[in-house]
Amino acid sequence: EAKDKGKNNYRFFDYILTERMAKRVELERSMRTALENDEFALYYQPLVEAQTGVVVGAEALIRWFRPGQGMVSPAEFIPIAEETGLIVDIGDWVIRTACQHQQAWRGSGLAPIHLSVNLSTRQFQEPNFLDRVRRVVEETGVDLHGIGFEITESLIMQDVDYAIKMLNELRNMGSIISIDDFGTGYSSLAYLKKFPIDKLKVDRTFVRDITTRAEDAAITKTIITLAKSLDLKVVAEGVETIEQIEKLRELQCDEFQGFYFSKPVPVLEFTKMLTPLPKLS
Ligand code: C2E
Ligand code: MG
Ligand code: MG
Ligand code: MG
Repeated sequence: EAKDKGKNNYRFFDYILTERMAKRVELERSMRTALENDEFALYYQPLVEAQTGVVVGAEALIRWFRPGQGMVSPAEFIPIAEETGLIVDIGDWVIRTACQHQQAWRGSGLAPIHLSVNLSTRQFQEPNFLDRVRRVVEETGVDLHGIGFEITESLIMQDVDYAIKMLNELRNMGSIISIDDFGTGYSSLAYLKKFPIDKLKVDRTFVRDITTRAEDAAITKTIITLAKSLDLKVVAEGVETIEQIEKLRELQCDEFQGFYFSKPVPVLEFTKMLTPLPKLS
């Protein structure tokens, strides 16, 4: 009797595991053809200047529209793309697409904005990563002062010396570097001043409870104070309410990003949020 139960349990877990693996294998297989089938799209979420409310930039966020399955979240497929190495080609596509959009906006009569692109560890560690970036710059003619990169603390900590060297190269080419999800990783604060970076993005888990939890308000305040003393800009991620905005303004946060202003939207929709340059009379 008990033995039978054990057997059933085993069958149950075996079934779940097999299902899960089959799903993953299928996801991996369809991701291999997604680029050639043009199934990816780049969405944009505005970054808003805290003092003026003006849209000064956007973060590029990839979306995958899988035929017959709807949208797959990057949180689901980016880790698998990392493991399989597909992220290198997907990452190239993201950078190229963002550069093409940036070029299209230039000379279209819109006030200039800054775009930031997420980099994954595997993509960054690819030995010819910089050459890939240079090729995209040549192909699109983009000025990298208009394109920045978002990296995580863990990406830097993989190999600190390599990261510093690479980030310096990217900055020499004009890009600004942001640390994404700041506060969730393990990099020591003392380390920060050694890194060639320009911006900190305060993780949304701190921003979420900034008005209700004194600890989170204190952490955010500390991060902002530290950033200022190191001459870094601070962005708050995941801003959803006016109360958070008021608190963050009080803390001297530079820029906001979050659903309060807009969720990530397709490029055409984002373009409508941009302001025309004033007409010369
Ligand atoms: P991330 O870089 O930290 O991007 C911010 C995420 O927070 C986005 O999720 C965005 O939709 C979400 N978000 C923005 N505002 C709010 C808010 O007010 N409330 C809440 N609850 N969420 C908000 P998304 O687009 O699903 O992306 C998830 C993660 O996937 C990104 O986190 C990034 O790590 C990764 N990712 C997205 N696109 C790319 C890409 O092109 N390349 C790479 N390597 N990773 C990417
Ligand atoms: Mg990001
Ligand atoms: Mg983030
Ligand atoms: Mg995040």
